[in-house]
Amino acid sequence: MKLRFDPRPESEAATALRAEVRDFLAVELGALQGKAPDPKAKLDREFSEKVGAKGWIGLTWPTEVGGHGRSYGERYALTEEMIAAQAPIRYHFVADRQSGPVLIRYAQPHVRDKVIPEIMAGRLCFCIGMSEPDSGSDLFAARAKAEKVECGWRLNGRKLWTSTAHFADYMIGIFRTSPPAEDNRRFGLTQFLVDMRSSGIEVRPILYPSGAHEFNEVLFEDVFVTDDHLLGEPGAAWKQATSELAFERSGPERFMDTYPLLPALIDLMGAEPDNHSAEGLGRMTARLHTYRHMAMAVAGGMDRGMEPVAEASVVKAGGTGWERDMVAEMRRLARLIDSDDVQRDSFEEIYERIAAIAPKLTIQGGTIEILLGIVARDLGLR
Ligand SMILES: Cc1cc2nc3c(=O)[nH]c(=O)nc-3n(C[C@H](O)[C@H](O)[C@H](O)COP(=O)(O)OP(=O)(O)OC[C@H]3O[C@@H](n4cnc5c(N)ncnc54)[C@H](O)[C@@H]3O)c2cc1C
Repeated sequence: MKLRFDPRPESEAATALRAEVRDFLAVELGALQGKAPDPKAKLDREFSEKVGAKGWIGLTWPTEVGGHGRSYGERYALTEEMIAAQAPIRYHFVADRQSGPVLIRYAQPHVRDKVIPEIMAGRLCFCIGMSEPDSGSDLFAARAKAEKVECGWRLNGRKLWTSTAHFADYMIGIFRTSPPAEDNRRFGLTQFLVDMRSSGIEVRPILYPSGAHEFNEVLFEDVFVTDDHLLGEPGAAWKQATSELAFERSGPERFMDTYPLLPALIDLMGAEPDNHSAEGLGRMTARLHTYRHMAMAVAGGMDRGMEPVAEASVVKAGGTGWERDMVAEMRRLARLIDSDDVQRDSFEEIYERIAAIAPKLTIQGGTIEILLGIVARDLGLR
């Protein structure tokens, strides 16, 4: 197999949507932009409901299930604008990016028809229940289990690092329903749609050293889920989760979480930077531009019905690695610039915020080593 990044110029529809999103954000965000500690991380249901009312959640989902039937290229433009503006999209983002597509593909029609319209209205927050204490990169070592009981399944075990579980209405979780097959250790894991208000679920916060609360440990003790909340085929989560990962790994959120530093550095440099600063800035802008075009190419592949998992892995591995390097490079360049106090304070404020989130970017959603392993396997190199 070869990696494919076919150039994908932005469509007229995507450019028009981009302008519409900018107008919306100018009105809705106002003073919020760039000022809150980490505005993008904020869980803001009211904002998500406004995004839903604009028809911007479930943008690419098929019209047959109530979706808006638009292109991944348009979704790319929408997401890029939201992230560049640091809009508080977290409440609906996971459901929009990956849980909704999983439900559309694998949920029973009556379950799908109940949940999908609520996601599209911005009224539901989803979390992902994959990682466990001894199962992060090695997803298939998951030990949380689901046992068959009358009319449903009983869940027991622990999930770890579960982002937004403290707000989530639902989790799409992976549970072991049978032992691995001898020839396939990935077999035996099953996806369930779990109502987070079910009895027997305990959500324990895990706090950052700063006190910020993003993720959690989630304990399951005899949690009952009905048969119709099993997603897809029993034992086949490994196949189903693979296509979910193309959605999870290719978006602009994989190289733009540190973006606010770039305009802040440009302000600090002023209109006539010295050659060294201009060259440093040029290098960073070129990298951003490259990942942007690669991500747009992945969106184009998805519009053509492909599942570009390896290409998405390249974008996430390269993009998050770039984000990590960029923070250090920004620090180096900023030290060399002579600027007035106001610009310096503003840069330092943004720098503090971004430097604090940078370490997580190369880990969440799959580490760089794991992503490169996926790419190597797809290229037949291992
Ligand atoms: C901010 C954040 C949010 C998260 N949110 C969620 C969430 O909502 N839901 C969820 O399920 N999980 C979530 N996670 C968990 C995340 O998916 C895991 O942390 C990640 O997959 C790595 O797993 P681990 O922490 O167990 O590390 P490990 O798997 O123990 O890896 C430790 C180190 O060993 C390396 N390594 C491991 N195996 C190999 C190998 N085979 N070859 C080479 N190197 C290897 C890794 O690259 C890494 O550097 C989140 C993590 C973070 C940081």
